[in-house]
Order: sequence, then C-alpha cells, then structure tokens
Amino acid sequence: MEQIPFNKPFIAGHELAYIREAVDRGKLTGDGHFSRLCHGFFEDRYGFRKCLLTTSCTDALEMSALLADIQPGDEVIVPAYTFVSTANAFVLRGAHIVFADSRTDEPNMDVGLLETLLTPRTKAIVVVHYAGVAVDMDPVMALAKKHGLVVVEDAAQAIESRYKDQPLGGIGHFGTFSFHETKNLIAGEGGLLSVNAPDYVERAEIIWEKGTNRAAFFRGDVDKYNWVDVGSSFLPSELTAAFLYAQLEELERIQAKRKALWSVYREQLADLETAGHARLPHIPDYATNNAHMFYLVVADLDLRSRLIADLREAGYLAVFHYQALHRSPFYSGRHDGRPLPEASRYTDCLLRLPLFFELEAAQAEAIAQRVRRFFGV
Ligand SMILES: *Cc1c(COP(=O)(O)O)cnc(C)c1O
Repeated sequence: MEQIPFNKPFIAGHELAYIREAVDRGKLTGDGHFSRLCHGFFEDRYGFRKCLLTTSCTDALEMSALLADIQPGDEVIVPAYTFVSTANAFVLRGAHIVFADSRTDEPNMDVGLLETLLTPRTKAIVVVHYAGVAVDMDPVMALAKKHGLVVVEDAAQAIESRYKDQPLGGIGHFGTFSFHETKNLIAGEGGLLSVNAPDYVERAEIIWEKGTNRAAFFRGDVDKYNWVDVGSSFLPSELTAAFLYAQLEELERIQAKRKALWSVYREQLADLETAGHARLPHIPDYATNNAHMFYLVVADLDLRSRLIADLREAGYLAVFHYQALHRSPFYSGRHDGRPLPEASRYTDCLLRLPLFFELEAAQAEAIAQRVRRFFGV
C-alpha cells in the first residue's frame, strides 16, 4: 500500500552547492554573503523596511517582544488557536496573555472582539495569519493607532500572501516568518524578522547582535563596538542562509505546485461543504491564498478521529494540530476564564490533509476520494 506522509521537506536544487560556496568563502558566522542575499530578497520583493534572518520564527517573536519593550504585567492580546511561540515569546518577558477567540467562518482571530479585550495595560496585539490567510488588518491597525499599541504579525505561515495588496508581515510594526521544515519554504529551522516601523530598525539590529552595535561597526558607522542594550544570539549561520537562499530562488515554482495541489483538494471536496459534511478553507475578499495548508473542519471530535483513522488505514497521514492555548496545562490556570468556543471548536474539529511539493496531483485526488467515500458522497 502506498504511504503518503503529512509533510516531506523539499530540496529545491542548489542548497548543497550554496552551502559549499559558503564554506569556500571562509566565513560561516551570521550576517555574511548569503544572509545579505536573503535580507535583500525580502526587502526587494515585499518592500519590508529592514529584514533580519533569525534561527526560527520563535526567535523573531522573542525579538518583537524585546523591541515592544514588554514589561512584567503588560497585557498582550494573542489568538488562542495558534502555536505556543506566539504567546510564549511574550510570556518570557512577563506579559499576561489575553486570548482572543477565532472567527466562526475561519480559524483567524475575530478582530471584532478586540476592543472588548483592551485595558489600560494592553501593550501589544499579536495577529496570526492562519494558513497564510490574512487577518482583517485595517481594524487592527486603526485600534492600535488609537490606543498606541504595537502590532506584531506572526506570518510564520504567510510568505507570499497579501491583505488588500499589502504583503503580510509588512503591515504591523513587526512581522515574523518561519522556515521550519513544515512551511512553504524551508531551512530546516529558520526564521526572519521584518521591521516596518522606522523607529525600531536600529534597535532591532542591536538586539539581533547580542546587544552590541557590531553591525554598525562593520558598516563603519561607529569606530568600536560595544555592549549597548539587551540582546541575544538570534542570527543563524551562513549554512542556514545558504540553504534558504536556494529555496527563495525557487519560490515561484514551489508556490505554483502547492497552489495546484490546493486547488485539486478544493475542487474534489467542494460538495462536502455543499452537503454540510465539512467546512473548507475560507479566503475572504481582502485576502489571497498561499496554499500553505488545506484543512477541513468537521462536526465534532469523534468524527475527526474516525476520519483520521480511516485515512491512515489507506496509508494517508492527516493530522490535527493546535490545542487552544487557553486550555493548555501551562496557561489554563493563568487564563481569565472566558470560554473561547470557536478556538475550542477548531482544536477538536480541524484536520489537515497532506500538502507538500512532491505530492502528485493524482495522490491528492486519491486522498480526496477517500475523504468523499468516508462521508458517503
Ligand atoms: C511554525 C509556526 C511558528 C514557529 O515557527 P518556528 O520557526 O518553528 O519557531 C510560530 N507561529 C506559527 C503560527 C507557526 O505556524
């Protein structure tokens, strides 16, 4: 029986050649030749003001928390249905997390609820563009402006996606991307911070370089480098950057294939939605689709477990993911107790189908057929 994994890391072609080139160049620490190529790629393609590679999206989120100057007791609004790092980066600075519920029609944060979550202690809003589909950013930015809040876009899944023609990760004060091997473009582990608000650019570079003004020193802007602020070792080595650059060069090809597979699922499964068996991904008018993920939302936990088991029997590995953070062992005791029914529903009812570059359209069709058979359509 053919086994189809949930994910398989894709090697675009030049990764090993570029790693060899990095070795031959004789400088393997961060901020070298390939790091600069990666920074330039993001700055040119998306118009982000300043880009800094990090060792993960988690690190980029931690940098955002430092840049936002989060202090113990500050409140940060975070969606409950997300990966732990979205919240944890701020908890590390002593923040209290105020969880926002998801929308009924898609897992993204319900921005209509934000105003009710504000208090005088609110310092930042972190949005997550779930499945690479944009959160409705205009109301978020308007609210942030009115109340002087910092906006961080967790764009871990959102490379190449847009909100009303603006690239995601370029709207808030900061954007954070991931190149973890489950994302569209990969570097094993890797990430990127985009800094959009001009006032934060200089400090971002310092925090990135362990609290020193080393980057300014190498540019010749200062005559010696010093410990000038807090910081940490957030920058990846040239080996990671070389690998990533090979992926960036193949971005269009990777995206075209993922979108084609996504469309196969969408077409093959459309009538599941019509028949009321499952909800498919919803792309609002203001958003684009980067084919990061194809998911189904079924009626309940039991049905999801049975569907996963049925697919597994056929050799197809479908998975669920986030356990809503407000119900997590670590944070449930600290959560203010508000029920977040939509986040809980996605925790129980959302299921992801295999989607990776090397998946064949015929395999996606076979998986979709098995799902249809399960529902008897
Ligand atoms: C993958 C992911 C992260 C973490 O990315 P890493 O690069 O593994 O640190 C954070 N937030 C979201 C929404 C993610 O999907």
